[in-house]
Amino acid sequence: MYIKSILHFKIIHAKSRIHGKGSFAKENIPARKRIGILGGQIISKFKARKMAVTKSIAVVELWNGWAIDASDEKGLRYVNHSCDPNTFMRNINYLVEFYALKDIAPGEELTCDYGTTHHDGKLACTCGAVNCKGSL
Ligand SMILES: [Zn+2]
Repeated sequence: MYIKSILHFKIIHAKSRIHGKGSFAKENIPARKRIGILGGQIISKFKARKMAVTKSIAVVELWNGWAIDASDEKGLRYVNHSCDPNTFMRNINYLVEFYALKDIAPGEELTCDYGTTHHDGKLACTCGAVNCKGSL
């Protein structure tokens, strides 16, 4: 099954200060607005763990026991982790939605607190936030 990505705001990809590539707002995104839905191929959690990719969220595990491989995703796959994020992710069934936590200005990098979901706290965090937890 393939989930089609949806973007309600213009997003561009550029080099991130946090990690590799990032997703950046190209226009104002007001607080609490839905930014979009992460698109990708639905795969098993077993396959997702075997892929064991990098810190970029190419693979997101879903609450329903499956995972989504967003490797070919255009919009939101480069949203990096931050301990002081400006977006949050909500997962209902196969949908992974991103919402703005605060007003986001053009040029700001989109970040999300992914917690310890896919690295079990073994990966050093480089987000640079004042309240950085140090790992994810
Ligand atoms: Zn951090």
